[in-house]
Amino acid sequence: MANDLHTEGFSSPLSNPGQANAAIAALLSQGAEVAKPEIAVPAGGQFRLPGGFVSGNDFANARYDAEVRELNGGDEEAITKARNGGIGKFISTLLASGTVSVGDQKASPALLSNLLLGDRDTLLLEIRRATYGDEIVWDRYSCPHCGEEFRLSVTLDEIPVRRLADPADRVFEVELRRGRKAYVRLPIGADQDAVLAVVDRATESEQNTLLISRCLISVVEADGSENAVTGNPDFARALGLLDRKRILDAIEEKQPGPQYNDVKFTHDSCGKEVPLFISAGDLFQGL
Ligand SMILES: [Zn+2]
Repeated sequence: MANDLHTEGFSSPLSNPGQANAAIAALLSQGAEVAKPEIAVPAGGQFRLPGGFVSGNDFANARYDAEVRELNGGDEEAITKARNGGIGKFISTLLASGTVSVGDQKASPALLSNLLLGDRDTLLLEIRRATYGDEIVWDRYSCPHCGEEFRLSVTLDEIPVRRLADPADRVFEVELRRGRKAYVRLPIGADQDAVLAVVDRATESEQNTLLISRCLISVVEADGSENAVTGNPDFARALGLLDRKRILDAIEEKQPGPQYNDVKFTHDSCGKEVPLFISAGDLFQGL
């Protein structure tokens, strides 16, 4: 049931915009990057991206406005066909089908592969909203604590969204061991496509090596000398395990977009908090 969701302290921006805005402002002033709920424009399919589309390094002209449309039967045929080619093809076809424009550019494969993962996740979420509406329903959700099955529904606005404070924050510094540091960029669609293309035959460690080798820009040694290392899998393999973990953790912590791992509710029957994991498959249960 919808009211199984723990909604204490949640103020709807539609019924009480002042309180919601004040809550968001309070969160922001505490330095928290996660604010909820996001206010969505209901019908038009227009909204703001949490990371922003940047052409080259032109951060000053980042574009946040984007538009999606409802998927139709022709899209469904293309998407279900693409699914046979793997999850990467499925996601890229979904995005290409439902995205109308970002900023003043029409959606194209080149544009979509340049977007941050968090912006792509936001496009998927908005395509879902335009196609199926706001509510995700599980007819029989099983509580991991007490095992009771019940009907669960979550609205898309209950998913917290993290925004990038500054478009330039997509490149950042990570402290490594022994006085070294790395310059790293947030992954974009092209990185996701590359990793998902090998997901069936590469181990998780190998996928991490691929991601690090693509997103690591340079490493500054303890003596101050800097070496460009982009696209060098051998360098990514030679990094210590802790340094690799720090880089991957930083990427995870800084990526803007819907925070699917932060959705939780309290199960009334057992009183315990249940974390909810929502995937692209849950968003598009019909495909
Ligand atoms: Zn329970």
